[in-house]
Amino acid sequence: MPSAGELTFAAPRRGKPPRHLADLTSAQRRDVVAGLGERPFRADQLSVHYFSHLADDPQQMTDVPQAARELLATSLLPVLLTPVRHLETDNGTTRKTVWRLFDGATVESVLMRYPGRITMCVSSQAGCGMNCPFCATGQAGLTRNMSAGEIVEQVVAGARWLRRGEVAGGPGRVSNVVFMGMGEPLANYAAVIGAVRRLTDPTPDGLGISQRNVTVSTVGLVTAMDKLTREGLHVTLALSLHAPDDKLRDTLVPVNTRWKVAEVLDTARRFFDATGRRVSIEYALIRDINDHAWRADLLGSELNRRGRGWVHVNPIPLNPTPGSRWTASEPGAERRFVERLRAHGIPTTVRDTRGREIDGACGQLATLTP
Ligand code: SAH
Repeated sequence: MPSAGELTFAAPRRGKPPRHLADLTSAQRRDVVAGLGERPFRADQLSVHYFSHLADDPQQMTDVPQAARELLATSLLPVLLTPVRHLETDNGTTRKTVWRLFDGATVESVLMRYPGRITMCVSSQAGCGMNCPFCATGQAGLTRNMSAGEIVEQVVAGARWLRRGEVAGGPGRVSNVVFMGMGEPLANYAAVIGAVRRLTDPTPDGLGISQRNVTVSTVGLVTAMDKLTREGLHVTLALSLHAPDDKLRDTLVPVNTRWKVAEVLDTARRFFDATGRRVSIEYALIRDINDHAWRADLLGSELNRRGRGWVHVNPIPLNPTPGSRWTASEPGAERRFVERLRAHGIPTTVRDTRGREIDGACGQLATLTP
């Protein structure tokens, strides 16, 4: 155990998380198993246990000989996430979990049960380097990238609780995954794409979640957005725009100083052209900062300039974060903003702000007190 002094002052250790089955394609899993001196089909057995049965105890893997079980489990199913605590609200249908990673870094995930779907909101980095001033995660800075295994494990954990009926509302399945927890997913590209493939590959290679039900949210890293476009994945792209003009967006989403609004919107449009998937524009409504009617009009015309039917807007009432003077827009301003966009013919739906009471809503994930 490190001493208290080390805990407080030591620079974060940034070793690689242990290798996990969920980091690997099924071909790579077989290679690893063969390298351990076991028959390659044992890899497929492990995949069935992990992705189909959601097993977390190697002793349940009774079709694998006892002697091999321990070796395979240690080599491919290490514990990556340890729950630090769970916080629940909405009568138990919203559950935020703080996880400790192998190196002591902490991240959060949020499970949200709705009438027709169950969404896991996952983290892709411990912290975030994008530094958006209205987001609690952005204020803490980046600790490190997460591995594909660490990302997938958040979803598998949720899937296990649901299968066991541990979430209010009875047994269920994770139907949707949103990369809207801590981190900028496109700044951790390879691990995020690996995770998306594991989540969406059919069982037992992966979890079998529909690509359409996976949303990757980005501040607008243009190069990585184009790369995502070329992956041929039918995921939903969400773009955190928050302002239609560069002057304001430069301050709200600092990476805008590198890639401007016009370029980011053109890139989002290319994603739609290639995938046919309607892009989602996220817009946190901040009182008197970005909620003016003229900005709604400017947003509407910037979107329409690039065509019709390719985009919808998701205004998010700003969630409070520690140390910020900013608050959510007045209800009237919010209503006007939405009406103006709709008048431009832009489908617009205000996002519900689940999890506010447990600091589990958009922009509130920070893990200040692990
Ligand atoms: N880094 C990615 C993923 C985070 S998603 C991205 O920025 O898209 C979280 C979403 O919540 C983003 O749209 C983010 O801008 C938004 N958000 C951040 N802080 C918020 C806050 N305090 N209130 C409401 N939304 C916020």
